[in-house]
Amino acid sequence: MTTTAAPPRMRIVRHPLKYRLLEVKRVERVTPGTVRVTFAGDALEGFCEQAPTDHVKLCFAAPGQELPTEPLVENDTWMDAPVEPITRDYTIRHYRREARELDIDMVLHGTGVGSGWAAAARPGMKLGVFGPRGSEQIDLVHDWYLLGADETALPALARWLEALPAGAKALAFAEVPGPADEQPLATAADATVVWLHRGDAEPGTTDHLERAVRAAELPPGLGFAWVAGEANTLRPIRRHLRNDRGLTRDQVDVDGYWKRGTANHDHHEDEHTPHA
Ligand SMILES: Cc1cc2nc3c(=O)[nH]c(=O)nc-3n(C[C@H](O)[C@H](O)[C@H](O)COP(=O)(O)OP(=O)(O)OC[C@H]3O[C@@H](n4cnc5c(N)ncnc54)[C@H](O)[C@@H]3O)c2cc1C
Repeated sequence: MTTTAAPPRMRIVRHPLKYRLLEVKRVERVTPGTVRVTFAGDALEGFCEQAPTDHVKLCFAAPGQELPTEPLVENDTWMDAPVEPITRDYTIRHYRREARELDIDMVLHGTGVGSGWAAAARPGMKLGVFGPRGSEQIDLVHDWYLLGADETALPALARWLEALPAGAKALAFAEVPGPADEQPLATAADATVVWLHRGDAEPGTTDHLERAVRAAELPPGLGFAWVAGEANTLRPIRRHLRNDRGLTRDQVDVDGYWKRGTANHDHHEDEHTPHA
């Protein structure tokens, strides 16, 4: 067991709320179903990111508009406005401070303003980037980590693995359509990554992650579990981790990144530990 003076904690570090209009520098296919969009420019000056689940709101132009509507911010607070911006949440996959380049990995799932924009993304196109509002920082002093993700949460899972210290024990499950959708995941941790293929099943309809988490043999000691993906499929996972595995609220972060049949799902509405 790791001994610590105080129990490890999760805390939210707030960042000044800032909107940036950024230009696409590069677009590449990471996998058949995911596009990596690299934004660049001096507008990224002061951009902060600190934790694996850090995310921004991408702001899209309304039909017929050239540029996105800018969110109304007063006193560092996002205010209601007569015309609201069209936003979707996306993880900061990489930020290269020196080069002022920001990578966002966007899933091409077929319908939706985000997916549609990503499918058409080309260098020179402009997009609004709002945030990140904050970073969810977790003391990385646990004996083991259980990680789970579908492809929308793969950027955050990759960042989790990159953040874990050398020697940390980690078991990661990633659900993707098939072998072509797997990605190399770098880590210094003592990690096992298990890819789960859903084949022809629709995203968000399988219980692959749930079955994998239920069957997982976890080491003794203090653990932390992070799982993100389709909201409905995560509910039994959250219950299992809390009720059957006996993990406390501080040891579990299960976050519905999208919800089948719902556009722009609000992940704050799911029952999970407070989030940035
Ligand atoms: C904190 C956070 C971080 C996220 N990070 C990423 C990220 O890095 N990359 C990424 O691709 N996504 C990420 N997501 C998920 C992304 O915000 C949602 O998938 C979002 O709904 C996409 O917007 P859209 O405009 O394409 O679709 P929407 O207009 O929101 O939805 C249109 C329809 O598509 C469905 N749908 C939405 N997403 C999917 C999907 N993946 N597969 C199948 N159907 C879907 C909806 O249920 C709805 O019926 C993240 C979400 C959160 C909360």
